[in-house]
Amino acid sequence: MSTIKKGLNTICTHVGELKDEQFKGAVSPIYLSSSYAFMDVDVKRYPRYFNTPNQEALSKKIAALEGTESAMIFGSGMAAVSTTLLAFLNHGDHIVLQKSLYGGTYNLVVEEFEKYGIQYTFTDGLGEGASRSVETSFAKAITPQTKVIYIETPSNPLMTITDMQMVATLARKHGIITMIDNTFASPINQNPLEFGIDIIIHSATKYMGGHSDICAGAVAASQEHIDRIWNLGKNLGGSLSDMTVWMLERSMKTMAIRVRAHNENANELASWLDRLPEIASVYYPGLPSHPDHALAKKQMNGFGGMISFELIPSIDAEQFMRALQLIKPSMSLAGVESTILSPTQTSHALLSPEERAHQGITDGLMRFSVGIEDCEDIKEDIMQALTQTKRQ
Ligand SMILES: *Cc1c(COP(=O)(O)O)cnc(C)c1O
Repeated sequence: MSTIKKGLNTICTHVGELKDEQFKGAVSPIYLSSSYAFMDVDVKRYPRYFNTPNQEALSKKIAALEGTESAMIFGSGMAAVSTTLLAFLNHGDHIVLQKSLYGGTYNLVVEEFEKYGIQYTFTDGLGEGASRSVETSFAKAITPQTKVIYIETPSNPLMTITDMQMVATLARKHGIITMIDNTFASPINQNPLEFGIDIIIHSATKYMGGHSDICAGAVAASQEHIDRIWNLGKNLGGSLSDMTVWMLERSMKTMAIRVRAHNENANELASWLDRLPEIASVYYPGLPSHPDHALAKKQMNGFGGMISFELIPSIDAEQFMRALQLIKPSMSLAGVESTILSPTQTSHALLSPEERAHQGITDGLMRFSVGIEDCEDIKEDIMQALTQTKRQ
């Protein structure tokens, strides 16, 4: 495809596709070789070098979606996160991270960084109306050794929004590299490069895969930054198998359509939930009552498919989840099917009740990954589960 910027659906469907020269089939062939010629070739290919034909093709699609020069695909979101972080952090360096982070990223930092001599600071100031204090809290956390600022927006589970432009401007002033986990928004709803963020990370297990059947990760950035990540990546070995690369390419053809359907359902459900007497509060950046709705509107093209809501204390969360018939109580998120989980029982189970309360996570908090089913059917399922749970 030419370099003229195409629409999102066209990028999803076509960018990076491989031509089937032999049989003229409509879709990209899968090249499963783990052994390629080294003589008379321009590129020495090997799956762990992230440069098989299918890996390269899918990387182009992801770069085109994020508007970056280059991209890489990994075996999981955490392979992408860990390789990227370690590529830019040396012994003695310091990193500033947003406090409200994906659990796996948080664990990587607190369990592993000390032995590499990497210092870290989690910033305060996130939560209610976070953006208004975010500049000062990030600025205060910066030291002369700070090499990276790492953010996630919207973040799990309270859908807090971080001001990307503010963080990028602050970091530039100090010559610091910025990284974002853009998983919850997907490239359809948010393109952090436009706001000055340097490196964009995705768990492709989520909206890129979209069908709850793939584990993969991706990083999009300038060629210079990708080269640096590649240098470490080939040593750490977190590449993705070509069979899964092909499945991910197939899934991504419908990503823009899927994400827009998720957006539409979540928008409708968030305002509907907000009006129910059984729901104490709803966290969704698309709601005008969200403390950072204006900021979300400025930096997002759609508000995403993730909603969190809190049941009133008289409704038992576990009974509510068991009473659901359509919505599946299930780990992970971003599949075409609606799923729900309790952060208290899963992602935040290891925290003490006091720590959870401090982070605003109650036992009645539900993290709801809105699917693409008909909205009325989702509402009906929630209604019947609430009614049944109240009666018990
Ligand atoms: C799931 C997830 C990850 C980790 O991705 P894996 O593919 O499970 O390794 C990272 N960040 C966010 C926001 C996620 O939701």
